[in-house]
Amino acid sequence: MTKGQSTTEGNPQSVVIVGAGPVGLTLAIELTRFGIPVQIVEKAAARTDKSKALVLWSRTLELLERQPGGATDFIEAGFKVGAVNFISGDKLIGRATMASVASAYPYALMIPQAETERVLEERLASLGVTVRRQSEVTSLSLGDDGVEAVLRGPDGAEEKLSADWLVGCDGAHSLVRHTVGAPFTGKTMDSDWMLADVHMSGYPVPDSEVTIYWHRDGAFVIFPISPGRYRLLADMPPSGQAQAPEPTLEQVQAIIDRRGPAGMTAYDPVWLAGFRINGRKVSSYRFGRAFLCGDAAHVHSPAGGQGMNTGMQDAFNLAWKLAMVSKGRGRDDLIDSFSPERSYVGDQVLKNADRLTMIGTNKNPVFRGVRDVVGHVMLGLSPVQHTLADTMTEITVGYPESPLNTGSASGLKGPAPGQRIMSDRPFGAGADPRFALMASGEAAATLLARHAAVLEPDLRTPPDPKGIWLVRPDGYVAAVAEHGDPVLIEAYLNWLTT
Ligand SMILES: Cc1cc2nc3c(=O)[nH]c(=O)nc-3n(C[C@H](O)[C@H](O)[C@H](O)COP(=O)(O)OP(=O)(O)OC[C@H]3O[C@@H](n4cnc5c(N)ncnc54)[C@H](O)[C@@H]3O)c2cc1C
Repeated sequence: MTKGQSTTEGNPQSVVIVGAGPVGLTLAIELTRFGIPVQIVEKAAARTDKSKALVLWSRTLELLERQPGGATDFIEAGFKVGAVNFISGDKLIGRATMASVASAYPYALMIPQAETERVLEERLASLGVTVRRQSEVTSLSLGDDGVEAVLRGPDGAEEKLSADWLVGCDGAHSLVRHTVGAPFTGKTMDSDWMLADVHMSGYPVPDSEVTIYWHRDGAFVIFPISPGRYRLLADMPPSGQAQAPEPTLEQVQAIIDRRGPAGMTAYDPVWLAGFRINGRKVSSYRFGRAFLCGDAAHVHSPAGGQGMNTGMQDAFNLAWKLAMVSKGRGRDDLIDSFSPERSYVGDQVLKNADRLTMIGTNKNPVFRGVRDVVGHVMLGLSPVQHTLADTMTEITVGYPESPLNTGSASGLKGPAPGQRIMSDRPFGAGADPRFALMASGEAAATLLARHAAVLEPDLRTPPDPKGIWLVRPDGYVAAVAEHGDPVLIEAYLNWLTT
């Protein structure tokens, strides 16, 4: 087994990433930005050409903002959607708009996964890293000090890759997950689903709005992809076949006619597919020197469209921790926090996706009657609309139970440890992952001078002048203290670096 390199600033540890989907690419960009040597290997010869995951949510855009090219490259390739309508029968039950979302990106950015991957891969290439394609990891072994993977290249020849760390971003059928023996616990729903990426005329609301139809036959959802092009999803009765069958355009039109409003006509299909919903997750995301991110660790119902975004946020969470530890700038506990933090988020996403799927597909007439009445009342309340929009856009994702949290914001106006915090510029944008101090005054300036190695060079404006906020490189609060009592922050920074 290859021995891990020593961990020093000038000689950082190395990482092999298995899989160049959206999650592996995001991780590779983040680690490369932070100066960590990365190899990213991918068995497919080319990127996907399918629309698959269609949306980048506000929180993911906020995290992409700190990379070279920022969120702008994605926004230019996408289409903004600002509202979701819920319709049962022909009655509008409710509507959630995203205009109120407290983010620089108060909308859902519709962008086919093929485009998301293109922008990510081009960004990675601009940082000097090329994806090694037609290169499949066929086996791996994990040691105490390093990892070794066997790679089969385009010509069938085998090669051994050694690194200090390995991250399985290798999708739902992950070899890495199988190798470490992590149970993928959950269930597969028995109903079949139809997916149609089509052009369509007659959509009765603006193209900047999603519509969810709760029909007595089942759910029917229309996501605009770009003006005149839509993703349609509908649950179908179980076919009894081994795979959910691919629908024909005629079958898609029949669903539109039955479950949607009159006057919509689908044509020029881009992609028609059948699929079954899996809700599965591992309980641990770390196995010694190996980690699982993205679909390798969790798969969900597409209801809510959170799968890819959750996976990309796994990568953002892991990257700064791995970079700090690999450069000898932070203690190993940082890496230990990856699994509990992201597993907590994975559990929430799975629960919400299950709930949304159940609400949309339930055929029981009594349940549907209650759902429509309660839904109408609840979705008419502006706090409920705001909560729904904040949850969908993932700005409420946080780590309230993180082992990295300390202190309390009680009595202060501002986010508590584990919560996302906003600022006038992105966190973690530099060539090193650094914590930020949001505070003013002499005590804060002294802290900054004493811990210059792990802190951004400038203080940021705090949400309340009476407090000091220590913020992680991914924009979540690590610690909060009273302005006049920086001892707790000092202790945190000492702990971080010993
Ligand atoms: C039909 C369909 C519709 C979907 N719709 C949505 C949606 O609306 N919203 C949403 O959020 N999500 C959706 N998803 C899910 C979304 O596509 C995934 O969550 C996302 O692709 C996960 O990204 P990933 O990088 O973790 O995995 P993947 O995209 O699966 O990437 C894994 C990569 O690893 C490679 N790989 C695997 N094994 C190896 C190996 N041994 N060696 C080298 N390379 C390997 C694979 O070739 C692949 O490129 C949909 C998926 C499908 C199939």
